[in-house]
Amino acid sequence: MDLITVREIRVASTRDEVVFAPGERPLGGGTWLFSEQQDGLTGLVDLTGLGWPSVTETDTALSIAATCTIAELSRLTPLVLRTGERGPSRGSQGGSPLFWQCANSLLASFKIWNVATVGGNLCVSLPAGSMTSLSAALDAEAVIWTTDGGERRVPVADFVTDVQSNVLAPGEVLRSIEIPRPSLTSRTGFRRIALSPLGRTGTLVIARLDATGEVVFTITGGTRRPVQLRFDELPNARALEQSVLAIGEWYSDAHGASDWRRAMSALLADELRIELEGIA
Ligand SMILES: Cc1cc2nc3c(=O)[nH]c(=O)nc-3n(C[C@H](O)[C@H](O)[C@H](O)COP(=O)(O)OP(=O)(O)OC[C@H]3O[C@@H](n4cnc5c(N)ncnc54)[C@H](O)[C@@H]3O)c2cc1C
Repeated sequence: MDLITVREIRVASTRDEVVFAPGERPLGGGTWLFSEQQDGLTGLVDLTGLGWPSVTETDTALSIAATCTIAELSRLTPLVLRTGERGPSRGSQGGSPLFWQCANSLLASFKIWNVATVGGNLCVSLPAGSMTSLSAALDAEAVIWTTDGGERRVPVADFVTDVQSNVLAPGEVLRSIEIPRPSLTSRTGFRRIALSPLGRTGTLVIARLDATGEVVFTITGGTRRPVQLRFDELPNARALEQSVLAIGEWYSDAHGASDWRRAMSALLADELRIELEGIA
């Protein structure tokens, strides 16, 4: 839709140009910004002109730029499998299937995928933000550019604080997410449910079994913000169910009532527990 209050769109090409006057906001792919009325918005600063490489590898992490599109991310599997060649679980089902599974969890077609960005998805901070699901489940860190020219880091699991609310202070920008290498070679399991076959996520549960034996269940979509349940080893059915049912911040909207989301999360988590039990 036309944003009739917007007077200026600037394309930033250097960090010095990533500054925001009152009423201005960062522009990623614009798929959310241009989908509804934006009260008080007078200007946009386009981040895609900064030319950040979508994906970079370091010795310790896979770094995904905030401006990486969902389409680019969905094609990452081969790269991640190459990364796995240096890790302990070559050829295993590592973290890599999650890239495709989470890209497919958006209620959005390939047309949206081609422009919507990973950073935009995290920053909209909807419960059904599956880039949040992906990066929280893999214990990624969010790298944030601060207004004084520095940066700070927070676990993605703590980045979204509530529905459409996150830790970004005014003027701060999400620069990238960094996924630690060990997460990419962990065994993972994925379950998602929606009220209709192509519906928005009701709840999404990802289980991750690390080489250390630690098991992490990450619940998004059903909850108002990501919730992680950590166990030193695979929990038994009762312990897992009690932990899921003890979560106190279930989300409720047209895409699912909170009691349904709670029950489905417990069921899906147990399915993943059984799946991991077979390979632990
Ligand atoms: C048909 C359709 C279906 C959709 N389905 C889903 C869905 O299932 N789940 C879901 O979560 N969303 C969904 N969306 C919403 C949206 O498309 C996605 O969340 C998308 O990933 C947003 O990315 P973007 O780059 O287009 O963000 P933009 O629209 O460019 O920006 C979104 C918000 O994030 C801010 N922002 C963007 N990048 C940064 C950054 N690097 N640092 C700081 N702030 C930033 C912007 O200022 C804005 O407030 C859907 C949208 C459409 C049109």
